[in-house]
Amino acid sequence: MSSAGTQLERQNSAQPKVRLRVLLVEDNALDAALVLRALFKDGFDVVSHVVQDEEGFTEALHANSPEVVLADYNLPAWKGMEVLKVLRHEGLDIPMILVSGALGDVTAVECIRQGATDYVLKDGLARLPEVVRRALREKQERSLRHQAEQKLARKVEELARSNAALEQFAYVASHDLQEPLRMVAAYTQLLSERYHGRLDEDADKFIGYASEGAQRMQVLIQDLLAFSRVGRSGTAKTKIDCNLVLKEVLQTLESTIQESGAVVAVTELPLVSGDRTQMAQVFQNLIGNAIKFRGQVPPAIRVWAEKAGDEWLFSVSDNGIGIAPEHAKNIFVVFQRLHSRSEYPGSGIGLAICKKIIEYNGGKIWVESQTGSGSSFKFTLPCTALDDENGKNHTVKV
Ligand code: ADP
Repeated sequence: MSSAGTQLERQNSAQPKVRLRVLLVEDNALDAALVLRALFKDGFDVVSHVVQDEEGFTEALHANSPEVVLADYNLPAWKGMEVLKVLRHEGLDIPMILVSGALGDVTAVECIRQGATDYVLKDGLARLPEVVRRALREKQERSLRHQAEQKLARKVEELARSNAALEQFAYVASHDLQEPLRMVAAYTQLLSERYHGRLDEDADKFIGYASEGAQRMQVLIQDLLAFSRVGRSGTAKTKIDCNLVLKEVLQTLESTIQESGAVVAVTELPLVSGDRTQMAQVFQNLIGNAIKFRGQVPPAIRVWAEKAGDEWLFSVSDNGIGIAPEHAKNIFVVFQRLHSRSEYPGSGIGLAICKKIIEYNGGKIWVESQTGSGSSFKFTLPCTALDDENGKNHTVKV
């Protein structure tokens, strides 16, 4: 050890309370003794090491793993604040308290700003034990927080990995299942065409069931494939005009709109960043559902957007059958439906696709509804730099 004042000292006490390893950076032996005494008197069983320069400090740091560093501000061969550089360099989170003869308030504040935990004047050493206790407490809280953050980060990483694996599985499964299923569907269809009425009645029925099942499975698998395709291999994002997208969607839905007598009112919509086809899919699923789940009267649907902070809040509202609040979350899960296929056709994937698209584009989607009193589907998307010409209203009557 290079420092002349180096000593490894164990203070004995009749009733040792809290064991504490202290590294003291101090050139004055008397001051060092007073500091240690102040701690000892207040219930610390101190194991201390006293050093005066950087070399001694680094060596003692490695040899003794101190829990707290007490450093004089001015030393003949070193500076107390340099302790922080060494601690940072070593990647150590050890509280460092300045213990100094005189330290102006401005200097003290600056030292704390630079990373010192606290400071105590040598003529006020009675404060030292409490300052040390607080520093140790804060360090423990920091380390617990750090552990919790690390645990959370690990969990998030695990979840992301398992999600990616699951998505890959859904994609491969739905993609690879298509081909054999196509064969099953084609041959059951052929069977029913060629052998209808040539076997017995039961056989006709069974072949019919098999053929219908295969066709339904094809639809489910295509839906699942569409779901797992969202966000795969980075769909390019462009600026899209939602007014144009909606116009196309309303054209696609034209016959359904006419058959149901629906009226769709649209307020001028903003420009957003995303994939045009996906955005169209969102509007088409939401408007399609608003028509499908209509009540006794013809559907009255409203589509509008308003600015909410740095996001656009889109709404698609209807006067249909509504959704009980306890189902408001389930309906966004793949294949979750609230009705049988005989009541309302569908496979239960439309809203799951909407959720995936919106979340992939940095937004959120939810529904506000009550059974029997219509639904309002809401989703957010981040504002883009190009969307400053919004606000004019117009109504499209179809
Ligand atoms: P699908 O329409 O094929 O059933 P979705 O994922 O689009 O699948 O919707 C899931 C379920 O959410 C629907 O089965 C229905 O019960 C409910 N739902 C969706 N949109 C509406 C709506 N506008 N009004 C009432 N219920 C709705």
